[in-house]
Amino acid sequence: MIDINKIRKDFPILNRQVNGKPLVYFDNAATSQTPQQVIDVIVDYYSNYNANIHRGVHALSQEATDKYEAARHTIQKHFNAKQAYEVIFTSGTTHSINLVANGFTSILKKGDQLIVSALEHHSNIVPWQMLCEKTGAILKVIPMTPEGELDMEAYDALLNDKTKLVFVNHISNALGTINPIKSIIDKAHKFGAAVLIDGAQASPHIKPDVQALDVDFYVTSAHKICGPTGVGMLYGKEEWLNKMEPYQGGGEMIDQVTFEKTTYAGLPHKFEAGTPNICGGIAFGAALDYMNAIGFDNIAEYEHELLNYGTKQLQDIEGLKIYGTSKNKTSVISFNLEGIHPYDVGTLLDKMGIAVRTGHHCAQPIMDYFKIPGTVRASFAFYNTKEEIDTLVQGVKKAKMMLS
Ligand SMILES: *Cc1c(COP(=O)(O)O)cnc(C)c1O
Repeated sequence: MIDINKIRKDFPILNRQVNGKPLVYFDNAATSQTPQQVIDVIVDYYSNYNANIHRGVHALSQEATDKYEAARHTIQKHFNAKQAYEVIFTSGTTHSINLVANGFTSILKKGDQLIVSALEHHSNIVPWQMLCEKTGAILKVIPMTPEGELDMEAYDALLNDKTKLVFVNHISNALGTINPIKSIIDKAHKFGAAVLIDGAQASPHIKPDVQALDVDFYVTSAHKICGPTGVGMLYGKEEWLNKMEPYQGGGEMIDQVTFEKTTYAGLPHKFEAGTPNICGGIAFGAALDYMNAIGFDNIAEYEHELLNYGTKQLQDIEGLKIYGTSKNKTSVISFNLEGIHPYDVGTLLDKMGIAVRTGHHCAQPIMDYFKIPGTVRASFAFYNTKEEIDTLVQGVKKAKMMLS
């Protein structure tokens, strides 16, 4: 059970006003808010032990290194990675995907096939297109259904011995669809293809087990899970990480450097060139601790209630159409009012203190599929309430009146 009053006290930002109205924050799919427990960890770092890691013998550097590596273990445990060194700190999901795409440059050859889905964020499309340009590999697309689900029969038909990589999001940020990733992974493995799951939108709602999934790569960003921006992770199976070439060269990622030849450090350092976001990494660990203390089962149950409540209220508004109607979805409601541009609805809602996202949500192919410029997206987190949804529903009705 969620103790909503207690939880809301953890988030100082929820007390503020926007345009003279209490803030209703429904843009959680873009970034989540930060609880005091995580803010305290950030303040503590800069107040008490700010130092570079791995380098110094001095006390502060030791402390910072210990806390940073402890955070790596927290992340390992959370995602159930076999080894801590299979967890690579990155600046976020986008960085993680680019790192893997770059790492496959020398593994792929011309004519190899890669499979993406029609439901992806641009972050999980563009790096692979760049990889195809470099290697001559070919990108194939799993189509979607009108409900916003993946067409799994079409996926079966795309798989063959030439398939080397499959990359799909766990949950669509634009529609909220939860994809059947276990089945996607198992089917790809029958053809020896590796699978990368973009978990950016799933991590706030679901605690994945990378070993049970047998996934080759799982990536996410801390800022969608109550952590800070500018930090994220790449989980990669040891075998794959060893085969991949490093993404960036520099300090921390080397074993020996001479002007004739440089040898690389082992995992995870091979992929962690330069001074990382030390404070961010430590805060990422603290954010996972915070979420786990509440419990992902409790979070999922409560958010599902919010989703059902919001869906019912919104779909009763005449002329309102919801995009993404999979039975298996998280607390994201993407919608439009007939004949009204989503941007206009979003602007009016902002005047009422309600923060939603409008636009294509970095997923233009999905918008093209529905032949719309974008949607209004309300995405709920475990610190939102039904009363806030009521405010949204009133706001949408008012916007509809004013704009039609
Ligand atoms: C947010 C998001 C991304 C991008 O994450 P960044 O933190 O901007 O790198 C990628 N994929 C999905 C599904 C997302 O929701």
